Order: sequence, then structure tokens, then C-alpha cells
Amino acid sequence: MALLLNVSYSEKEQVKALGARWNPELKRWYVTYKKGYYKLRNWFANKKSNIIVCDNLYVAEGEKECFACKKKTPVIALATNYYVMDEDYAIFQSEDSFQLISYVDFISSNVTMYLKERFNFFVDYSNHTKSTYYSNHCKHCGRLQGDFFVHSDVGSPFLFYSEEDAKKIRMHEIPLSYDIEISGDMAWSSSDELIGLYAKFIDSDFNVSEY
Ligand SMILES: [Zn+2]
Repeated sequence: MALLLNVSYSEKEQVKALGARWNPELKRWYVTYKKGYYKLRNWFANKKSNIIVCDNLYVAEGEKECFACKKKTPVIALATNYYVMDEDYAIFQSEDSFQLISYVDFISSNVTMYLKERFNFFVDYSNHTKSTYYSNHCKHCGRLQGDFFVHSDVGSPFLFYSEEDAKKIRMHEIPLSYDIEISGDMAWSSSDELIGLYAKFIDSDFNVSEY
């Protein structure tokens, strides 16, 4: 798997020296050496990207009561078990341990269109945090369900401690054509392995040709 870069003609020698290669079909420069990804940060889609998700993107789906209309609504969190972090260029890869990503404000992929249409997950302004990020929205009343509410509040589907709770999570697996950049927060917790062990894994209905 590779990461695509945005390189202008005059910069080609520079990126080549840093390990990038040319794809004549796509007419794009790309890099495959994961430890070298962040050395090419100047040519990322977004220089703020701090997580490069490799091979598959996972969408963890749970359910929560909407704070506004009080009806149950699906909520999602992006998740990964194979990624490169910007600190120390550390590569994490695991079978069972999945990390959830919150406060995502950038995703370098057309998967964003799918996340909006399929899960009501799109960039919106939160009055609570006074910032803009990819957020969940109630399927009944449309109100934004902030990430604090979804990830950290009492009753959050992604705050689980037991096998029973993890079994309620559905993991949609989206195979990626290229590795993708994400800017967001990642938290590690002792329950990360519960997802891999007990969540219900399903192939996503994401069809890359539709987007
Ligand atoms: Zn609602």
C-alpha cells in the first residue's frame, strides 16, 4: 500500500531524494516506505495529518440516545489497527487491538462522501468545543452528537469495559486503495483489544467506484 503525494513539477527531485516514486498511470508521486511517510509531510494533502491509516479503514458503529430528542440513534467512530503516527514515525499493527479516532478534522479520501451518506457523519461546527470536526448527527432530529458525548460520556457505546459491551459494536471494514491521512485524536485504552475479540466484523457496503 502507498501514500499519494501532491507534488509540483519543480519539486520532483526533492521528493525523489526523500524516497518518493512516480506512478505514470496516476501521474502522481507516492511513497511506500512507511517509516518515511512523514519525511514527505510537505507534500501531504494536509500538513496537520498525524495518523496515516494503512490498508483498511474501520468504522465502529454503536448506538446512543440522542441528547436532544432522546431517541436511539446510530453513532460511529473511525478505527484502525494498522497506522503510522507522526511522533517518531511509529508504526502500529495488530490483529486484535483497535484504536478509535475522535475529533477528526481531516480525512484525505473520498470515503468522506460515503460516511456522510451512510452514517450521517460529516464536518460540522460544535458549539461545545467551538471547533469544526467530523461529527455524528441524530438520524431522527439531525442534531450534532459531539465527540465528548459519543466517546467519553456515561453511556457512550465506545466507552466499554466488558465483552458484553464490545459485542454491541459493529465494525465495518473498508478496504483502501491507498493509505489515507487523518488529523484527529487517538486514545489508547485497556479495552482496545475487546473490539478485535468481540465486535461483529462486517464488510462495508462502500463501493469505491460510486465515489
Ligand atoms: Zn435526535
